[in-house]
Amino acid sequence: MTTVIDGKAAAASVIEAVTSAATTLETSGHRKPGLAVVIVGDDPASHAYVGAKSRMAKQCGFNSIQHTLPEDTSQADLMTLVASLNADPQVDGILVQLPLPKHLDSDPVIQSILPEKDVDGLHIVNAGKLATGDLKTGLLSCTPAGAMILVRQIHGNDLSGLNALVIGRSNLFGKPMAQLLLNANATVTIGHSRSRDLPELARQADILVAAVGRAEMVKADWLKPGATVIDVGINRVAAPEKGEGKFKLVGDVAFAECKPVAKAISPVPGGVGPMTIAMLMANTVIAAHRRAGVAAPRF
Ligand code: NAP
Repeated sequence: MTTVIDGKAAAASVIEAVTSAATTLETSGHRKPGLAVVIVGDDPASHAYVGAKSRMAKQCGFNSIQHTLPEDTSQADLMTLVASLNADPQVDGILVQLPLPKHLDSDPVIQSILPEKDVDGLHIVNAGKLATGDLKTGLLSCTPAGAMILVRQIHGNDLSGLNALVIGRSNLFGKPMAQLLLNANATVTIGHSRSRDLPELARQADILVAAVGRAEMVKADWLKPGATVIDVGINRVAAPEKGEGKFKLVGDVAFAECKPVAKAISPVPGGVGPMTIAMLMANTVIAAHRRAGVAAPRF
């Protein structure tokens, strides 16, 4: 029987642990964790994500502050806001919702966030700590940290002797995911658009992680029988069966045909997706503990 990995349940247990840690911090005389979320412009999808993050922060007992800036905000004004949030002692975590409007350059903005407040885990100091094997003092990129919790549910903490393939090499997901798997002793391969024979690489993998953005690219005959499959992709495709002009979300893995071959597989939606926001909350509560000089929880 294949295990369908329940990301909603895993995310709910992270949120429960975060809420409990935030309560303990506050009852021991410290401030509530503070999360500042910055959004620029009117993109409806970004507003929906930011709304969900702010609601979840409140549910966790955080002080959640949203800064909504107009579409025509200048680079200098955005950098000034980040600098003021860096200096604000009430703020433990800063998140700048991406993508930014086209006239703004996101990289200098992200790199100007203090690494200890970089709850998205995208600052080069945090990426560098992960790359050098320091998983204790930095903040991890949220989606790979969440995907890793799902891997641990199936295989435990030690992946010695297992082959892992990560398809995708973005700074946001593929590279940090590969580092986390390596840190857990897996033998890791990173596939990308220039890899010669991805199906053959995939057939060696005990753990296959797909983060490409191509609907149902990974087929059943790519899988090693009994593999664990973590599907990170989110792709919107036409769903005429739901009615004219309707869409549905699918992953990078052809779920229906891969499920019987895999030992465990994460669905889309309901797999990795819910973990991302949960790990953002986890990073914020960790950052708040560190600022308070109290031992931070681990997730
Ligand atoms: P990205 O920056 O666009 O990176 C995509 C990666 O896929 C690149 O490394 C690219 O290779 C590789 N690729 C593209 N076409 C390929 C092909 N035909 N064969 C093999 N590799 C190919 O995307 P991302 O930000 O990492 O996100 C990847 C997917 O995960 C997207 O669907 C995104 O929506 C989803 N995602 C989900 C969450 C979540 O919360 N669940 C969070 C983040 C991302 P090159 O480097 O060679 O171009």
